Order: sequence, then structure tokens, then C-alpha cells
Amino acid sequence: MTHDAAAPALLDHVRPEVRALPLSGIVEVFDYGRNRQGLIPLWVGEGDLPTPAFICDAAAASLAAGETFYTYQAGIPELRSAIADYMAEHYGRPFPGGRFGPERFFATVGGMHALQIAVRITAGTGDEVLVPTPAWPNFAGALVAAGAAPVECPMRLEGEADHGRWRIAVEDLERALTPRTRVLVVNSPSNPTGWVATREELEELLGFARAHGLWIIADEIYGRFFHGDAPRAPSFHDVMRADDRVLFVQTFSKNWAMTGWRIGWLEAPPELGPAIENLVQYSTSGVPVATQRAAAVAIRGGEGLIRAQVDRARTNRDLLAAALRGTGRLRCALPDGAFYLFCGFDGVSDSRALALRLVDEAGIGVAPGSAFGAVGQGFVRLCYARRTADVDEVARRITAWLAR
Ligand code: PLP
Repeated sequence: MTHDAAAPALLDHVRPEVRALPLSGIVEVFDYGRNRQGLIPLWVGEGDLPTPAFICDAAAASLAAGETFYTYQAGIPELRSAIADYMAEHYGRPFPGGRFGPERFFATVGGMHALQIAVRITAGTGDEVLVPTPAWPNFAGALVAAGAAPVECPMRLEGEADHGRWRIAVEDLERALTPRTRVLVVNSPSNPTGWVATREELEELLGFARAHGLWIIADEIYGRFFHGDAPRAPSFHDVMRADDRVLFVQTFSKNWAMTGWRIGWLEAPPELGPAIENLVQYSTSGVPVATQRAAAVAIRGGEGLIRAQVDRARTNRDLLAAALRGTGRLRCALPDGAFYLFCGFDGVSDSRALALRLVDEAGIGVAPGSAFGAVGQGFVRLCYARRTADVDEVARRITAWLAR
């Protein structure tokens, strides 16, 4: 029997939740265009900056010093303290009367692992989780892998066609509730739309979760990539109480240009510590010490890097949005945060077809909006965390393509 003939039979024996995992619509376009000469890739959610040397050096020094052994499940004390200090500096207090002590922070293998642990704690087989969409597809992926059911709650794009605003309407969340609902996912600033919840919206979402006994998984990884009149986006930390059931997903990937290192953190009430340490033990058994040393150095000394990236993201956003508005066909909300433009064009209704055509006819790689939920149909996501010269060229190519 050939390998191919055996594959379907083997798959029949794989757990249904694994078979139910959705294929990524982003990967399809990526595979289609990956080797195109001269293509400018904006499809993946990462910047183009390599990790700065001062961060890499800390990892090299750790390895050279022989730090090659198993370590703390929750993370090395040095890193947990560094995260606590960073959070205190930028967020003040986790809630009135509270304190950002190291015991609130747990090192994970990227934000993705923090999300997986948050899901394990809050939802399993038969449970439903409200996911406002358009949303990063990995929320649904992590939920399905755990046997839980993601429930898409489409956000509303309101206002003018080319400078609207996305909104989560609480009445839509109410309508999606069932006796099985356990969790609400809130990703602000959002990947893919750049939507940023106001403080009032966060209060409203928290009130909804309290009223219905839900957990909140708060993904605030883009909190520093904020273009409002403050150095960071509003956070659930600004509105929550000590007894609120909020778990925060965080990562070193974006702020400190460390996507490939795979390190992030979960922030949770300290009484969950033993449960989280068990979940780390039985999944990854910890994050390499050298990686944690690098992360500690990054978070203590990386403010210049963050500022430079955020300034560049703002320049690129303004440049791209202005050029595309000039076509008279743009449909989008100007992103207040993160580093994505989620946009459509009058006369174009199929995201996948648009993404494939942009590869072939404009030399640009974008993510199809339909990969982020049904409400994303007709849109594409452009990641503009790149050299401004590239973004300028992208604006030129799309404008020329639309004018053909
Ligand atoms: N959350 C959101 C909204 C993201 O966009 C990403 C990455 O793109 C992550 C979490 C996780 O990042 P990582 O696993 O690279 O740390």
C-alpha cells in the first residue's frame, strides 16, 4: 500500500477536534506567491527588523555560561521581575489597590502558548467562546484544538466608507450567548483591523462578562502600538477589579522584534499559579533559560526600539491610507493601533481572489480578509511594519493596479 493510500485511513483515527482544525487562508496565498520575484510581502504579522544585538548577546552569554538545563516552570525570577517592573511603569496598577508583583506573570513559548494555557484554564469540550470578528485565526484554532467551540460575533464597521470605525455591539454578544458560553475573547488593539477599544468600551465588555459569569481572555499584545494621545492603548487593567476573571495574553514577538524566539507571557491572578505551572510542565516544560535572559534584557532596555517601531508604523499607516483613499475606492477603518490596514475596494467582493490577483498583477502579498472570519469577506490585511520605502512602493503598486 502506498503512503498516500494509507493517509486517509490513518486520519480517520485522529481525534475529531484535530481533524476539525481549520486550514489557514493566509498560508494558501503565501504558498501561491512565496517565490515570486520582486513581490513585497505584507501577509505575515511581523516586522522586518532583526532582533537587536544587545538582546541576542544576552542569550549568547547565557549559553556560554552553561545555562542549558531545565528551569522554573513559571519562568526565571529575573524575567518575572522585569515584566512586573515594565507593567508597573506602563500600566500603573493591575486594579485599584493591586500590585504588579512577579507572581502575576508566567513565561510562555510565545503569545500563542499563553493563549493555549488561557484556553485550557477556561474552556473545553462542549464549551462555547465568543470571538468578535474579524479576528486573528489562532483564537479559533486554539479553541477547536481544545474541543471548545468558537462563536463568531461579527463586529460592525460604522461611519464613512474610507474612515469608519469597527465596534463590538454588546447586543450582538448577548444574542450569541447560550448556557454553554464560558469566555469572551477581546483583542485590542486588534489584529487584523487595528481597532482599539476605548476605556468605556472595555468597561462595557467587562460588565457584560461579569453579568454572565464569563472569563475574559484579553489579548493586549499590541497595546504599545497605539496612535492615540497616550503612550499605550486603554487596557482592562484600567477598569478591572481584583476579583475579575481576566487572563492576559502577552508576547515579546512584536514590541521587541523577537517573533522567532518564541517567548511571551501569561498574566493571571497569582492563585492560578500552581495550575499554570502544571499546564507549562505538561506542555513545554518551560522556556529555555537563554531565551528568558534575552527577554529580560529586552524588556528592561527596549524602549527606544519600541518607540522607533511605533513611530514608523504611524508614518506607514498614514502614507498607505492617504494613497489608497486617493483612489476613491477604499473601504476601511483607519487603524488606531497594531500595524495592519484591513481594507477593501469598491467593486471587489472576494478576498481570496483579490489576494491572488494582487500577487499576480501587482506583486504584493496580502492576507485575505476571509481568513479572519466571515465578516472579513471582501477585505484584505496589509501588514505595514516594514521599511517605509517598501510601503511607499506598495501604495504606488495598488494605486496603479486599481487605476488599470
Ligand atoms: N495575539 C495576536 C493578536 C497576534 O497577532 C499574535 C501574533 O501574530 C499573537 C497573539 C502571538 O504571537 P506569538 O505567538 O508570536 O508570540
